[in-house]
Amino acid sequence: MEVSDNDCVDCERLVTVRKENSKKFPTYYNRPVLANGYEKTKLLIVGLAPGLHGANATGLPFNGDFAGRFLKQNLDANGFKLQREGNSGGINYCITNAVKCFPPLNRPLQSEINNCLRHLKKEISVIQPNFILCLGAVAHNSVVRACKKDIFVKFQHENSFRIGQRIIFDSYHPSKRNLLTKRLTREMFGIILKKIIKEIEKVTMSE
Ligand code: URA
Repeated sequence: MEVSDNDCVDCERLVTVRKENSKKFPTYYNRPVLANGYEKTKLLIVGLAPGLHGANATGLPFNGDFAGRFLKQNLDANGFKLQREGNSGGINYCITNAVKCFPPLNRPLQSEINNCLRHLKKEISVIQPNFILCLGAVAHNSVVRACKKDIFVKFQHENSFRIGQRIIFDSYHPSKRNLLTKRLTREMFGIILKKIIKEIEKVTMSE
C-alpha cells in the first residue's frame, strides 16, 4: 500500500544502516517497509519495526521471521485474512509498523519513533480503521499519538480503550523473546483476537 514514502531519509542513523545493509544483503529489500493489506479494512495491526531478516528482507511487515510466523498462524487460525482486495472472505486487515526502517538491535531511538509518526499518521488517515491492534508499547505509544495529541494511556497487555469512535487493543509484542519466555502465548493472543472479532461483528451488523 503506497500511502507513505519508501525513500524517506528523515533518520540519519537508519538511512546509514539501510545503505550498509544494501551492501551486506544485496538481495534484501533494505528500504522503509510500508503497510500491507486491504486499504478499506476495519482493522489495522501495528508492530514495532522491520526485523533485519524478516520485513527488511522481504519488504512486507511481519513477513519472513519468527514474529511474523506466530502472527500469521494465529490470525489465520482465527479467521483473519491478509489480502489486497476485500472480497475473498475472512476478516481482512492491514499491517504496518510504528517505525518503517530496520533499527539496529530492533531498538529505534525515540527521535526515530518521533520522525516516523508522520508515516503512521498518514496510513491511519488513509485506512481510517475502526480498530487498531498495537503489538507492544512502542506501537501503542505511536498509535495513541497518531490518533490524538496530548493524551496519555499506559500500555497494558489485553487492555482496550477508545479514542473517539476508534477502539485500540494492546498486546505484548510477539517477539521471539516474548514467545520463548511465554510472556505471550497462543492462548493469550487468541483472547485478544476474539475480543476484536466481537467488536468487528458488532460494527458489521450495524452497517
Ligand atoms: N517484523 C515486523 O515487521 N515488525 C515487528 O515488530 C517485528 C517483526
